[in-house]
Parts: sequence; C-alpha cells; structure tokens
Amino acid sequence: MDNNDSLILEKGVDRAQKNFIPKMDVKGEKLEDILPKNLLRDVLPIPDVPEMEIVRHYVKLSTMNYGVDSGIYPLGSCTMKYNPKINEIVVRLTEFSQIHPLQDESEGSLELLYNISIMLGEITGMDGFTLQPAAGAHGELVGLLIIKKYFETKGIIRDKIIVPDSAHGTNPASAKMAGFSIIELQSNEYGEVPLDHLEFAMQQGDVAGIMLTNPNTLGVFDRQIKDITRIIHKHGGLCYYDGANLNPMLGVCRPRDMGFDIVHLNLHKTFSTPHGGGGPGSGPIGVINELIPFLPKPCIISTDGGIVCEQNNDKSIGRIKAFWGNFGIILRAYTYILSLGAEGLKRVGQIAVLNANYLKCLLQKKYELPYNRMCQHEFVLSDKNLPNDITTEDVAKRILDYGYYAPTIYFPLIVNGAIMIEPTETESKYSLDKFVEAMLKIYDEALNNPEILKTAPHNTSIGRLDAVIAARKPILHD
Ligand SMILES: *Cc1c(COP(=O)(O)O)cnc(C)c1O
Repeated sequence: MDNNDSLILEKGVDRAQKNFIPKMDVKGEKLEDILPKNLLRDVLPIPDVPEMEIVRHYVKLSTMNYGVDSGIYPLGSCTMKYNPKINEIVVRLTEFSQIHPLQDESEGSLELLYNISIMLGEITGMDGFTLQPAAGAHGELVGLLIIKKYFETKGIIRDKIIVPDSAHGTNPASAKMAGFSIIELQSNEYGEVPLDHLEFAMQQGDVAGIMLTNPNTLGVFDRQIKDITRIIHKHGGLCYYDGANLNPMLGVCRPRDMGFDIVHLNLHKTFSTPHGGGGPGSGPIGVINELIPFLPKPCIISTDGGIVCEQNNDKSIGRIKAFWGNFGIILRAYTYILSLGAEGLKRVGQIAVLNANYLKCLLQKKYELPYNRMCQHEFVLSDKNLPNDITTEDVAKRILDYGYYAPTIYFPLIVNGAIMIEPTETESKYSLDKFVEAMLKIYDEALNNPEILKTAPHNTSIGRLDAVIAARKPILHD
C-alpha cells in the first residue's frame, strides 16, 4: 500500500476499475489450449453418490464435533461464551457482507468502525483505538511496537519488559518478537505481583514497562494494581494491560482508571464473536492521548467534514493489517455491545464472576484449589489431592465421556497439574449444576474405579491417544 491510499475514499471506484481487478489476458478458450499436456488430469475420481448419502455423511461429521452451541465449554482463559445468533444475522446482511473496502460508498462502514472505537474507549477509559490487529497476540505485538517507538522517539534506550509469571503465554512471546528481553517476576503467595521486586527491577533504568494480564491466569485481580502502575510511571515506564479476558471487568472498572497506558481487547472472547480453530479474530488496541500518534495507520477520525481515514502520520508504527482489520468480527462485537447496552454489559461482568465463584465453591469441596481467593472469570484447580495417582489428564479425558468439553489443562505453569475452568456468564445455574455433578462423579470414580479414568475416554469417536508414541513417532499424514 502506498501513501496515495488517502485518495481511496474519494476515488475508490475509479481505482477499483482501473487497477484492482486486472483484465483477463489469457488466450484460448479451453484448458487444453492453455496448459501443457502433462499438467492436465485425465479423470477426477469424484465419488458418484446420492444427495442423501452426502447429507448423512456431513451430518454425522457434525455430530462428532463439539461447540458452544452443544454445551458448556469450560476452557479457562478462552471465554467460550455463547455467540448470540443476532450477531450472525447482522453480519450476513448484504449491505455488510457484499462491500469491498476499495469501493467509494463505504462511509457507513467507516462510521461504524469509528463508533465502536468510541464505545471501546468508554468501556476501557482509553482515548484512541486501532481496530486493525487480527488477534490478541497481534494486538500485543502492536502495543509493544508502540512502546518501542515511544522510547525511540524520545531517544531513550529501554529494551526490557517486565512480565509476571502469572501472565498469559503470549505476553512474553510478543515482547520477544518486538525485540525486548523479558524480566519474569515471580508471583507471591496470593498470585499477585511482588511490589518490592517490581521496584527493584524498575530501578535498573533500562525497563520500558510492564505487561500485566489482569485478571491474571489464576483468575485473580491484583489488588495492588494502582501501586503497580504508580511504580512503573515513577520510573518513566509504560503500563500495558492484557485485557483479552475483560469479561469480569465490563461496566465495573476500567484499565485506564487503574493507570494503564495501553490495553488490548479480544473481541473474539469478551465481545461474543466466534473463535477457536485459529479462525479470524480481532484484538483492538486502546491507548492514552500521548500514544495516539504511534497507532498503526490508517486511522479513522472524525472531522467537520465527516468520518475520514487519516494516512499521514510520521510517528505511526505503520500499517499492520490490510484495510481496517477483520470487519465481520468487529461488526459482531458492535451488534453485541448495542444489544446489551451499558446496563447489560455490566450484568455480563457481574454474572461472569458469580458463575465462576459458584463453580469454584462447589468443586473445591473435592478438588484442591491452590490459590483460595475470590476469583474473577475463572479459577485454577490442581490434581494434588486426587486419589490413586489420577492425573489432570485423566480427569480431562473422562469429562469427555460425560459429553462435555474439557477445561484448559496444565496451564498456567505456576500450578502443578492445573485444571483451569471458565464457565462464562452465558451458562445457566442448571448447566453449571450438571457440570459440577459430572466433576464430582469423576472424583468418586477416581476413588472407587480409577481404571475407568486411566483409560478414558470411552464414548468418543477416538479413544485415548498414546501421547508418548504420538510425540516420538508422529504420523504426519494419512
Ligand atoms: C486468549 C488470550 C490471549 C491471546 O489472544 P489470541 O487471540 O489467541 O492471540 C492473550 N492474553 C490472554 C489473557 C488471553 O486469554
């Protein structure tokens, strides 16, 4: 993309017609005239089967799958909440699904993108947003590149970032990709950042700031969060907030008010758009006023002449994604925010916390809970007290037999044999009770019939894989 992009809005159609879709320049009418003989295939072996068999085949395959439309999906740190169908209806409206970013009549879409930026600003307290990043980790990288550019512009060398050991795994990975080296801080007994260690690290003078996952991967809110941001700022650093799981904070508190300078959100978690399987996501970045010039270009801004796309900004870290980001995902999130309104969003936060604490209280009667605190959207059990050498993996496999998806396991690394559960606010009390019932039954089985756990799953289309053989002698193709 070049700097003439700013003309797109005025001359979109012209450009599309002249440059975007090239004229067909292949001579000849039949494939045989164009391709060499040795590249032509004789017969394509497509099976000749009746429609009914095809339908049955695909319906059968679909029943072998499990999704949030089938049942509870307690995958911690993933916020697998229900995705309301109205989001899908809106995103399929031809006015949205048939537009191209190079066409000229797209001001309505730009306005929509501008509006959601303002809404995310209200939700987080941030002054400016970019919607371009295509995932949470992509947003992290963008945020870190902004931090880097900020110090470069000031002529200051700061090449380290503090990342607590309770952070999401993408945090240190993104920091490394952005060219920082990482100072890992060990959490204290409450799962929080130790302030004395933080102060010591910042005193070295070469630390650009902190990346904090909050609530952290133990599902706990750091009660000293304002002290953390105060210490970082006192030493001239910047504070980055990983808000991928903003669920429990919605309408209750805001990263900006806690002192953060940059935040990323996962629209494909908190804001109810589908995810999993590596599909398209959206990880917008919000920043304070001082950092707005560093945002990726183009930016959408409101002027007296309407909503426009701004290209020219020397300080910007540059373009990081084609056009405006994953529009369909952003549109679903927009629909979700408008359907719920401010009151609805607040209730999401409250019920997410209530549901997680309800599950935690019932499950800790049997399962070990290493950080025994009020949790936010999720909590982490361990396999420490499981009888008969039953492991986290055994429990996770057995839960499949009860028709559920498994929790996140063996993460975070700071809990041995972690079982990380996030029910989300969209599960009813009935559904939570059923899940607890299955988990408690599994505990009884661990006591009285451990073999059934060790050989689970029994009811799924594929049984237990031999993890050792799979790692040592992987068969990478059929
Ligand atoms: C999911 C998640 C991420 C990464 O988001 P992706 O979209 O998967 O890249 C980062 N931080 C936290 C806390 C998360 O839960």
